[in-house]
Amino acid sequence: EAPVEKYEYQAEVSRLMDLIVNSLYSNKEVFLRELISNASDALDKLRFLSVTEPHLLEGAPELDIRIQTDQENGIITLTDSGIGMTHQEIVDSLGTIAHSGTAKFLKALKDSKDAGTDSNLIGQFGVGFYSAFLVADKVVVSTKSPKSDKQYVWEGEANSSSYIIREETDPEKFIPRGTSIQLHLKRDDKGFAHPERVERLVKNYSQFVSFPIYTWQEKGYTKEIEVDEDPAEAKKDGTDDNVEKKKKTKKVVEKYWDWELTNETQPIWLRNPKEVTTEEYNEFYKKTFNEYLEPLASSHFTTEGEVEFRSILYVPAITPMGKEDIVNPKTKNIRLYVKRVFISDDFDGELFPRYLSFVKGVVDSNDLPLNVSREILQESRIVRIMRKRLVRKAFDMILGISVSENREDYEKFWENFGKHLKLGCIEDRENHKRLAPLLRFFSSQSEEEMISLDEYVENMKPDQKDIYYIAADSVTSAKNTPFLEKLYEKDLEVLFLVDPIDEVAVTNLKSYKEKNFVDISKEDLDIGDKNEEKEKEMKQEFGHICDWMKKRLGDKVASVQISNRLKTSPCVLVSGKFGWSANMERLMKAQTV
Ligand code: ADP
Ligand code: MG
Repeated sequence: EAPVEKYEYQAEVSRLMDLIVNSLYSNKEVFLRELISNASDALDKLRFLSVTEPHLLEGAPELDIRIQTDQENGIITLTDSGIGMTHQEIVDSLGTIAHSGTAKFLKALKDSKDAGTDSNLIGQFGVGFYSAFLVADKVVVSTKSPKSDKQYVWEGEANSSSYIIREETDPEKFIPRGTSIQLHLKRDDKGFAHPERVERLVKNYSQFVSFPIYTWQEKGYTKEIEVDEDPAEAKKDGTDDNVEKKKKTKKVVEKYWDWELTNETQPIWLRNPKEVTTEEYNEFYKKTFNEYLEPLASSHFTTEGEVEFRSILYVPAITPMGKEDIVNPKTKNIRLYVKRVFISDDFDGELFPRYLSFVKGVVDSNDLPLNVSREILQESRIVRIMRKRLVRKAFDMILGISVSENREDYEKFWENFGKHLKLGCIEDRENHKRLAPLLRFFSSQSEEEMISLDEYVENMKPDQKDIYYIAADSVTSAKNTPFLEKLYEKDLEVLFLVDPIDEVAVTNLKSYKEKNFVDISKEDLDIGDKNEEKEKEMKQEFGHICDWMKKRLGDKVASVQISNRLKTSPCVLVSGKFGWSANMERLMKAQTV
């Protein structure tokens, strides 16, 4: 019998263990993600070394992760064929704080005075290997490094300040290489040893770990067996002389247990975009986001250089929450992976501005730490660069829909997400150049079909300097406004801003392709037909009528002026140059009610 060595945990680990064991942290299932990610790291290390030292793979060429459950005894065993640990490595890794995320966790713990936040911190920072104690009261690690000819066992228990290390002597537990972790589940957590539950967790958290993950599952197949026919039955059909007829076949289900591949080992985003079909992208989208409609567009790309990540983005066909729900960025639409391990889909504007929160997709980075927390995300320079690139790619993708042959697609897009983009005009000055070409409006020359600003500009008169618009509550009321008379006559196109947010968006843009947006309902509208001689004459002739009217109307108007902008109407109410337009006034009123 090999000697048992007893070790005390480093003080920090002790505290950490205490906290984990006694925490009320509800999201305990993260333990599996942490252990799988350690297994995956160990396999990565071995894979890397085996490039130059192929003999490391001898005797056990398979690189995989196997999870077995023993429901009866409440035990989960997770085995990887990775790099394993030597005796010294066990002491260094499983008795001290090796993990930078765990160190951060402890620091955050020191800073937080409120005991109630402690258990939330577990989820935010991840507590690595020790998260096993969220569900287990005893953990047994048996590990074999190719650097050592001995296999060692580490054994730790909840509520103990020490752990033991001994040599593995049970031949049944011998592994050629790697690590086997046995979790003896706490009484209340034995449910985790259910094979289907493990399968679900693996699918949810580690679907795209690049090594195969097998889970131990009960299976069944139907087989036909021959049984003797009941002699009474045989007599009845009168063919008793036929001996063969006395046998009959019966179907039975044969049950057995076997390993089942539970994850997709080659995540679709790691594949060469040239080799992935649209159907595959759409399938992945539907599976990942539980969608039943195909996306309107997708974009698969890799960025290199300063920050390296891969991503597939999608534009959904509809808004799930209804069109009004544009400011809810907590959509779980972006799934972040670090080195193919699922990290989180709980973002609040870190990767996309809220007006683009409808974009769905996966992002996989090699540059972020596995235990990346919201705080890290918010402060990280890497994330800022990622966000910039993601936003740019999202715009390219949307632009792609807008220029596609199929005009209907963009109409669909605009109907669902037009409001989002207009919100972008208000909130994201930096991207005005990308947003503006995507906008669509009705106009005095296109009342049925919306046009783009490019189409408007193309249709401008040679001497026309500005882009004209009128805000109204509908196309009908827009086209009947007296302000339009002169512009109709001169065949100048006017954009109809009929969505309340339109005008705010356009005034935020200020101009497009160096042409200013001009509200035709404001005083001082210059449509290039000023005639000073004539104006002087008119002023002399009608000036006193204006004065008289101003006197009668008093404070109800700011001033009464002679204008050349009307054609058939005798007069029109206009907004002051610096005041709100009538439409804005209406909006403001609506908001204060
Ligand atoms: P991290 O994974 O961030 O380093 P963990 O607490 O999850 O932190 O793990 C601590 C260390 O324990 C790892 O760095 C690794 O050296 C060792 N370790 C854990 N699990 C395994 C494993 N399955 N195979 C080999 N080494 C492991
Ligand atoms: Mg880890």
